[in-house]
This record gives sequence, C-alpha cells and structure tokens, in this order.
Amino acid sequence: MLRSCSRGGAGAPDGPVAARGGAPCHARKRQARPRRCTLDGEARGVTAGDDVVELDHVSKRFGSFVAVHDAHFAIARGEFFAMLGPSGCGKTTTLRMIAGFETPTSGRIRLEGADVSRVPPYRRNVNTVFQQYALFPHMNVWDNVAFGPRSRKVRDEELRRRVGEMLDIVRLSEFAERRPAQLSGGEQQRVALARALVNYPSALLLDEPLGALDLKLRQAMQIELKRIQREVGITFVFVTHDQEEALTMSDRIAVMSEGCVEQIGAPEEIYHQPGTVFVAGFIGSANLFPATVGSSSGGDVDVSVAGRHLPVPARAVPGDLHPGSAATLMVRPERVRVIVGELANGYVGLPCRVRDLVFQGPVVRFALDAADGTEIVAHVAGDERLPLLRPGDEVFAGWERDAARLLPGTAPVPVGSDR
Ligand code: ATP
Repeated sequence: MLRSCSRGGAGAPDGPVAARGGAPCHARKRQARPRRCTLDGEARGVTAGDDVVELDHVSKRFGSFVAVHDAHFAIARGEFFAMLGPSGCGKTTTLRMIAGFETPTSGRIRLEGADVSRVPPYRRNVNTVFQQYALFPHMNVWDNVAFGPRSRKVRDEELRRRVGEMLDIVRLSEFAERRPAQLSGGEQQRVALARALVNYPSALLLDEPLGALDLKLRQAMQIELKRIQREVGITFVFVTHDQEEALTMSDRIAVMSEGCVEQIGAPEEIYHQPGTVFVAGFIGSANLFPATVGSSSGGDVDVSVAGRHLPVPARAVPGDLHPGSAATLMVRPERVRVIVGELANGYVGLPCRVRDLVFQGPVVRFALDAADGTEIVAHVAGDERLPLLRPGDEVFAGWERDAARLLPGTAPVPVGSDR
C-alpha cells in the first residue's frame, strides 16, 4: 500500500492548517512545514464496507500548534490497528479524539457509521485502557470487571455470564476474589482489559498499555493481547512508540510523524516497502544513501549512489521520481552481503573498506566505508562460511537488485543509521 503524502514546502499550496506566527518554538517548527497528507484511497486504509472507526480529514490544533494534521483513514471491524511514531507525533491526541476526550478542530469522526465528532466520551461505545490501569483498589477482581455492566443495570444472570466469560478469556478466573494489590503488573493489566471488554465496545482503545511492564512481561503480554483480541474479535486501536510492539501485534500500522500520517500498511509492507525516508528510518535499521535518479532502460532505473551507477528495478522507484530528482536509496542491513572478490550475478553494490566488525553470535555487524566516505551497515549471519575479515580489508557491500528501494526526498539522518 503506497502513499502519496506530499509535504508542503516552498511553493507548495497551503494545507487547511497553514503556518501562523508567534507560537512556541516546537509549534513554529511544525507550523513552518504545513503538509497536505492526502493519502490516496488505498493508501489511506479506507476499507470497503465494515468500518468501525473512520477519521475523515481530521485535524487538531492547540492554539496555533498543529498536533494532528488531516488524518484520513478507516479501521475495520476486528482489526488490530496500531498508531506508531516518536514522542509528540500526535498519536495520543488522535486516540483521544476517537475516545471523545478531545474534539477535532476540523473533520469528522464516525463510529459504526455515525458521526460522533461532538458526542461526549460516555456516550460513545468505545473503552480506553491507559498505561495506569486505574483499578478500584478496594474491590476484588470480579467486582472490578463487573463495575461497568452493573452501572448499566445489566441483570444478574447476564452479568455473571459476561464477567465469567471475560475472566476466562484473560485467564484470571482463579483470581476472581483477589484485590488488585495481590496481583502482578501483568495480571492487573489483564483485569483492566477484562473490565474494558466486558462492555462489548465497538472498539477498544489502548494508550501504551504495556508501558508500565518490564521487558519480559511486556513481550509476554504482546502475545497475550493478540490472543485476547483474536478471541473476542473486537477492534483494537493501539498507541505505541515501540516499533517491535507494533510489528508483533498489529494487522495494520499507521506510522505518524509531526502530526501527519506518513504511511498505513501491514507490518511486512511498512518494513519492506516504506513509502518515505522517515518510515524507512523509524522502522528497523536502514542504510539510507543519498541518490540521484538517472535514466531508465530495460526495466531498470539508473541511480547514482556514492559516485557509482547502480541499476534499481523500476518497480522499486516511485512514479513521481524523474531523472535528476534527488532521492534516497534504502537497503536494509540484513540484505547487505559482505563479499570478497567479484559481485555475483544479480547483485549490485559498492566497493568498500571494512571499518569495524562486531561478532554477536547469530549476527556479525559490519561498518563499511565506500571510497567517497559513504557509510554502509551490514548484518551478516555469523556462520562459518563468512571469510575471516579485519578492519582495513577491501570488500564489496553487495545486495540483490530487488533488495533496494528508492524513496523520494533526502535522508534527515546520517546514512547507514543502525539503531
Ligand atoms: P507521546 O508518545 O510522548 O505520548 P504522542 O505522539 O502521543 O506523544 P501527543 O500526546 O498526541 O503526542 O501530543 C502531540 C503534540 O501535541 C505534542 O507536541 C504535545 O505537546 C501537544 N499537545 C498535546 N495535548 C496538548 C494540549 N492539551 N495543549 C497543547 N498542546 C498539546
């Protein structure tokens, strides 16, 4: 799913939220680059038919600061949808608008087809789970979960059935009598989930719900959350800045940057076919080489990188890049081979010198320098077939032709970023 998120730069038409003066520093920065984030129909993730949540050109301003700009996408029934991006990119604000805690400055939000843009949170059929679970400390697990349906006057028999079902799903039936203080962090998290799900919301909204857990528990809860979501079949909308979390659990991910949705797609798509330099650099490690687009012939586009001409398959080159365009060539470090001698057929690459290498068991991490100083990172399987190499050795950094993608614009970070 490719995107067409054009940023308003010099000469670009102003989007609906144009720059205003006199704002604090961070706001000025965001305002100085007004964008038009108009993803095309497929790319904006609008699915035909059974959409539970729809954002229709939604923007949010706080004073003159643009927190969310023209978010336009839909989330389908039963989908596990993540909003991923660095701190301050607007993901929590977007979630809070879906929940009703914030009102859009412009645009509409629909739940199950009905416009809820001005409907208060308690009248929306969504529930939110926050990082702090806010369980009632004086109530046991059963009563915590029963609280919502009880206040909605659900009858006793139905109440017992629902609470029993939810405790089963989160695997806490045997802890029904315990108070929150007698539970681990992961168990408390599952109570918070059961309490939110027992109301059968149209969508469950989760704001960094695993943030308070240690790494091991967080990883276990990622698998657990996914299982629970599959079992209940309810739409989950999840906010995180943790790419591993988003890749592990989501059916689709919306990657956000500076208030703008950069790309929406399945985890594999976001990782292998990033639409922008930002997405390529934010998800995983990436070599991001400054490049210039050349002419096309025989299904390949000639791309100039580090003083050499490399053929890139035309299908890996966005249509809006023309000869002479400045661009970025992306190659994932795990696709780069360190080759001694000649490049094999089907491979392209750059002659380099080994600057550093670190053996890490299953992977050897190489830092390589091309003749013009371009840095290349390679993650090579640490098996016995790898020739013995030392800093200073001359090699080729090579990759299969279809491992590279050309992206519009130039990299904002040094090439060969390895995080
Ligand atoms: P984090 O991961 O740190 O929570 P985020 O991507 O969820 O970040 P938001 O909380 O949506 O970011 O905030 C987006 C921007 O909007 C931030 O720069 C934030 O300071 C600003 N912002 C959020 N709420 C308000 C508010 N009520 N008034 C003014 N600015 C706000």
